[in-house]
Parts: sequence; structure tokens; C-alpha cells
Amino acid sequence: MSTIELNKRQEHILQIVKENGPITGEHIAERLNLTRATLRPDLAILTMSGFLEARPRVGYFYTGKTGTQLLADKLRKLQVKDFQSIPVVIHENVSVYDAICTMFLEDVGTLFVVDDNAILVGVLSRKDLLRASIGKQELPSIPVHIIMTRMPNITLCKRDDFVLDIAKMLIDKQIDALPVVKDTEKGYEVVGRITKTNMTKILVGLSENEIM
Ligand code: ADP
Repeated sequence: MSTIELNKRQEHILQIVKENGPITGEHIAERLNLTRATLRPDLAILTMSGFLEARPRVGYFYTGKTGTQLLADKLRKLQVKDFQSIPVVIHENVSVYDAICTMFLEDVGTLFVVDDNAILVGVLSRKDLLRASIGKQELPSIPVHIIMTRMPNITLCKRDDFVLDIAKMLIDKQIDALPVVKDTEKGYEVVGRITKTNMTKILVGLSENEIM
């Protein structure tokens, strides 16, 4: 598996550096009968994607990393802040009925529940709402704080956390989403959400080289 599709010229450059590195851009260009300027974009791609390393006044080195290693390196650096979505938040006194409506209208699978100070107090999933709905008529009068998963049992994350750690948490805890929170004096303020859908988008983005 490769993180990036290399063209013929880039493959050729890699071969030259592998056999002759460290080698300057000038010398690579000479071997290919091309100008240094023509090679610049290819060298930039090979360096940015991690196949080559450039050292000032020395030249280009072959890093020896495979496409899979480079992909893993890239993946390990991704942070929540660059992939999080907008959170959908409701007040703890909102009824189960209204929470169900919000879930449909906002088209999300997880709602975050907050108190009067906009501080995170709970999480509501689709199953929580289904469970509360079975055989009950009084959904408009049951507040969500009765049925939600509450603090401190909420798995949460911060903007600077690594996406890979979040993916592991989603699997270990068997949940679909985590609130992204910010510390305040009163508790955690919800600033985002990160979900299995975000993870799927990251996977596709990596395969299409949209994530550098
Ligand atoms: P669903 O219930 O729709 O399959 P989840 O798998 O996310 O969705 O939720 C399963 C249970 O875990 C629910 O009871 C829900 O309240 C709880 N839950 C969901 N997200 C979290 C979270 N981030 N932290 C703690 N508990 C959560």
C-alpha cells in the first residue's frame, strides 16, 4: 500500500537518491537531463510525503520508509481539532420527546446534555432514547437527565488529542461519539464532537491524499 501514487519521474528520482544519496537537487537534475526548476515539484512531493529527507547544503537522503510506514506516521500526527464536527447540545430539562425531535432534525446519533451554565452533564444516544420510549406514553414529561449517561462516566476528549487515541476509545468503550471539551472554572464546556463518521472521512481522506 502506498500513501501516494508516484509518477514515473518520481520513481526514477527515488531510485537515484536510493543509490547515490546524499545527492543534491542539481545532481539529480543532471542525471535526468532536466533543469533543477523542472524537478522542484517532484522533490517537494517526495519530501513532503516522507520518502526523501532534504538536508541543507548536503542534499537528499532516502528515508527507507515504506508507504505503509509513512501512512502510519501521518495517521499518528492527526489531531481532533482538524477533524471535529459541530456538537448538538440540549439542556438537561428538555423532554425525551423533544430530544428525539432534535436528533431527527439535526441528523446526529448523539446529543450532549448541558446544565444552566452550559457545562456538560450527560450524553444521549439513539439507544438511550429508544429504551426510554418502549411502552411509555409520557415522553413529553420525562426530562432527559433521568435517562442520560451522566458525568463522571462520560468519555471525552480535548482539541489537541490524537485522532488515533480517540479511534481506540470508540472501539474499547463501544460508543459512537465523544464530546470535545474545553476546561472552564465550572466544568467542561462542549466545543465539538468526534464520531465514527469523522473516522471514516479520515480514512477516505488519507486514501485520496487530501490529508497531508
Ligand atoms: P447507540 O446507543 O445509538 O448505539 P452508542 O453506542 O454511542 O450509541 O451508545 C451506547 C451507550 O453509551 C449509551 O447508553 C450512551 O449514553 C453511552 N455513551 C455514548 N457516548 C458516550 C460517551 N462519550 N461517554 C460515555 N458514554 C457514552
